[in-house]
Amino acid sequence: MSYLRNPRGPRAQEPRTPAVRRRAPRARKLLAAAVLTLLAVACGKEGSPPVKGPSPDQLPRYEVRAGFSLPGSATWQRAKQRGRLVVGAKEDQPYMGEKDPATGRYSGFDIEIAKMISASLGFDPASVQFRTIASANRETALQNGQIDYYVGTYTINDKRKKLVGFGGPYYMAGQSLLVRSDEKDIDGPKDLDGKRVCSAAGSTPYQRMAEDYPRADLVAYDTYSVCVDNLLTYQVDAVTTDDTILMGYAAKVPDEMKVVGTPFSKEPYGIGVPRGDNALRFAVDDALAAREKNGDWQKAYDVTLGLSGRKATPAPPIDRYPAS
Ligand code: GLU
Repeated sequence: MSYLRNPRGPRAQEPRTPAVRRRAPRARKLLAAAVLTLLAVACGKEGSPPVKGPSPDQLPRYEVRAGFSLPGSATWQRAKQRGRLVVGAKEDQPYMGEKDPATGRYSGFDIEIAKMISASLGFDPASVQFRTIASANRETALQNGQIDYYVGTYTINDKRKKLVGFGGPYYMAGQSLLVRSDEKDIDGPKDLDGKRVCSAAGSTPYQRMAEDYPRADLVAYDTYSVCVDNLLTYQVDAVTTDDTILMGYAAKVPDEMKVVGTPFSKEPYGIGVPRGDNALRFAVDDALAAREKNGDWQKAYDVTLGLSGRKATPAPPIDRYPAS
């Protein structure tokens, strides 16, 4: 995973008070180095499947809808001419969207959702070209046609609906907290006053922390995996985002990190499509409904997110809002 190899510096916002940053004592630094090595091993050597993850032949096969056509969708027409779909995703979120650096293969629940929709739109799921897009860049990527749709822990909300369209929802997550396993003082967002908390720029959890918990010392990076590096090296005290994502990191190294408290928001996951392409949005809704009904959704869940130990909550009802 990218964060094991290549931790990057802060992008979205420099830590605000580097002068008061706690220096990790030598023993802690050694522990952190050991943990990073452990994570590298846990995440598999290059080319190997993620720990506990399914091998490709265990993944569900999604039947491709033959003769499907969507003349009302400019996005679909372009993909048809190209011969494949280009889909935005995450690459560093275990069990949701993860990229094997050696093979370039993406895996996880979001990736399976993207593939089943591709099959329903008449494209071979194996032909989907995934492109990693960070939280802060999703709307722009959809607006400028870089991707046909986006599947990556993407919360549906009214503000975003002004910029993009959303199929779904296909899952309900909730904001939570990830801390080191020896942490005793943090059990919920009320305990974060004066604590260093990390999240991703452009995300709803970052926004909520900034607005509702202004006494937390909040920093933002491009990705959550950089936040996790910072947690393991004692640069921050907690990472906050959706429980789905945090449980994935914790499941990789359960001895070092834990998810605490109860989720304190509702994050309905949608499939981002270009705004105004209502034909595509409705086709995505139809695809999801059909794949939930025929059991593909559940099969996909069981071999991905289900492996993180998270119980399947049924998919929330699809919100087929009027053409916009
Ligand atoms: N679901 C939240 C969001 O869409 C957090 C996860 C993410 O950044 O992808 O902002």
